[in-house]
Amino acid sequence: MVTTHNLGFPRIGAKRELKSGLERYWKGESSRAELKALGAQLRARHWDNQKGLDLVPAGDFAFYDQVLDMSFTLGNLPERVQGFHGDKLDNYFRVARGRSAAGAEDHAACCGGVAAGEMTKWFDTNYHYIVPEFTADTQFNLDTSRLSEQLREARELGVKAKPVIIGPLTYLWLGKAKDNSDKLALLPRIMPAYRALLDYFRVMDVEWVQIDEPILVTELDPAWRAAFATAYEGFELRSVKLLLATYFGQLQDNLNLACSLPVDGLHIDAINAREEVALAAQKLPAQSVLSVGAINGRNIWKTDLTATLEWLEPLAKQLGERLWIAPSCSLLHVPVDLASEEKLDAEIRSWLAFALQKLDEVKLLAAALNQGRGAVAVELAANAAAIAARRHSPRVNNPAVKAAIAGIDANLGSRQHAYAVRAAKQAAILNLPAYPTTTIGSFPQTAEIRRARSQFKAGALDDAGYRAAMRAEIGRSVREQEQLGLDVLVHGEAERNDMVEYFGEQLDGYAFSQFGWVQSYGSRCVKPPILFGDISRPKAMTVEWITYAQSLTNKPMKGMLTGPVTILNWSFVRDDQPRSVSCYQLALAIREEVLDLEKAGVGVIQIDEAALREGLPLRRDQWGEYLRWAVESFRITANGVADETQIHTHMCYSEFNDIIASIADMDADVITIETSRSDMELLDAFDNFKYPNEIGPGVYDIHSPNIPTEAHIVQLMQKAAERIPAERLWVNPDCGLKTRQWAEVVPALTNMVAAARALRSQAQ
Ligand code: GLN
Ligand code: ZN
Repeated sequence: MVTTHNLGFPRIGAKRELKSGLERYWKGESSRAELKALGAQLRARHWDNQKGLDLVPAGDFAFYDQVLDMSFTLGNLPERVQGFHGDKLDNYFRVARGRSAAGAEDHAACCGGVAAGEMTKWFDTNYHYIVPEFTADTQFNLDTSRLSEQLREARELGVKAKPVIIGPLTYLWLGKAKDNSDKLALLPRIMPAYRALLDYFRVMDVEWVQIDEPILVTELDPAWRAAFATAYEGFELRSVKLLLATYFGQLQDNLNLACSLPVDGLHIDAINAREEVALAAQKLPAQSVLSVGAINGRNIWKTDLTATLEWLEPLAKQLGERLWIAPSCSLLHVPVDLASEEKLDAEIRSWLAFALQKLDEVKLLAAALNQGRGAVAVELAANAAAIAARRHSPRVNNPAVKAAIAGIDANLGSRQHAYAVRAAKQAAILNLPAYPTTTIGSFPQTAEIRRARSQFKAGALDDAGYRAAMRAEIGRSVREQEQLGLDVLVHGEAERNDMVEYFGEQLDGYAFSQFGWVQSYGSRCVKPPILFGDISRPKAMTVEWITYAQSLTNKPMKGMLTGPVTILNWSFVRDDQPRSVSCYQLALAIREEVLDLEKAGVGVIQIDEAALREGLPLRRDQWGEYLRWAVESFRITANGVADETQIHTHMCYSEFNDIIASIADMDADVITIETSRSDMELLDAFDNFKYPNEIGPGVYDIHSPNIPTEAHIVQLMQKAAERIPAERLWVNPDCGLKTRQWAEVVPALTNMVAAARALRSQAQ
């Protein structure tokens, strides 16, 4: 008999109940007791949702973040929140977001305003965790309260729970040594806390513990590999069983290490590392469990169960009781329940599986393995029919798009001439001053915009009324920009709800869910659009808005598009073709839009690639391949224009050191990036690599309500001019201004324009 289990369940709730509960609590609209009760209620519901599995996770529920939970379990709280008033939960929120609930902050004098912990992306997902903080003096003190509460609840509900914890090496690796000390030196100090935790689990009658070590799918240097052996030998002879969980990639050179650690079982992501399953089955000690993640925990597609059984059946014969099956990773990264999607096109819906449906697939596979395929013949036939229907659907396959992809050649991605030639032609037309000023695209999403959008959605405003409201907003943005004296204007993006969804809605091959929310961090969720078919653009998407904006001014108006790599990286993508192919399809569609804008007289076009960096694979040796097709996709999109058309791109970061050559290969005439918060330190990349084209290093931190002064902006630009020749510098904010108020934007941009003028006169 194979065992079924799950590594983690989405905690936000099928209708984002946790999000609203948290936000009510933070605003002081509900009590701590109410929030805690909501947590218990969600956990109970989620265990009920996972009924029928042999083992379900406990401790995977977090009010904010599972890594922050682990920091609290290990007693690793930043010094700045120690000794604060209030409940532990309030301190937890202080680390998570700088403050707890309104009511909990009565002690403003002593507890007010603490710096929130740093947040960063969880491996290659779109989930963000709170970075553990260390110094050479960090001490650990086990606190079992959270886990014991959840284990007790599980026991009362008759649930066979497997507690989930982050392993010691991954925990240390994820953190940051504030004093640049060696994190690994903390291992001897953290191990007693872990050993005490395992002993505690034994007291709680736990049989299996899932210990997550996803860093085993990354390149580890010898010290870290050696530390694995030391740490896990320290767990030997504990009387709970350990399932060492890896996910998101292949173990490769860590496979032997993972198979040799003294644990009781190993979980492998069989979606990303199918070929390692057989190897692991060979290498694991004779008693060890091999858990295979046979269902993709990162996408929303149904699994081809018959194809999966083909390779699982021989494995089940070989391993017998030692085979476990599960999703590839925690289901945190997928929406909860497809059953809520009543409005989704029925055909597309029949191809999908969200968390609950994925667990049904795990159970079906187990039934087929335990009792033979005949026992679930009806279900398998239905699955096979859905898989076949999707594979052959004309909505998925568009021969014209496939032909266009086959016809891509190197010329498609190349400009007519090199940058220097183009720059001279563009300068003659655009006639811009030195240090030209511009913004990144969006202007504040005002109450009027939001009202018009919701009335339009509700049917209370017709199409013409909605367009008139958006035109009025565009008019306002243009007037404000003219008054501010900016050089290259934007239309302000009033008509866009979201920079990816806006384009997805207008492209063939995309579908949208109603409740397909995935946690991004804390209470923030995103609803990625679903890219299901070959991508094409039935008609122009932005031309009308941009030409309208251009008609209001004599200054150059910048056309504004989202690039193919960003659209891809922020969508649920197809599993039936490589990401690169989907990306090329998007590139061809956005290219048509670029050419239509050019034809309509738009001489400056910005193509945002905010998410290019986050698509980098976990292993460095795969970066080159990703960057090759990502850069090529951008080039196909952007570079079909005449020399005279100026292409801009924008990226919301500037950690470019390791990828700057690829960024330069994109060959945009101008790139705008985020730099202001780091005081231009992020421009270090430009010390060793001479970026050949123009750059606008952001001088206004748009994430903060603070107004940058003219002097500060001048100073930042002077720093930039030390690395990049002044004649190739632009002056602009870090990112779009959509989350700010006009009352902040106007004074900030006034100072920015004044700074540019001061720089020009200094230069003379
Ligand atoms: N053009 C977009 C905006 O200004 C860019 C957003 C982004 O880079 N995240 O909103
Ligand atoms: Zn940005």
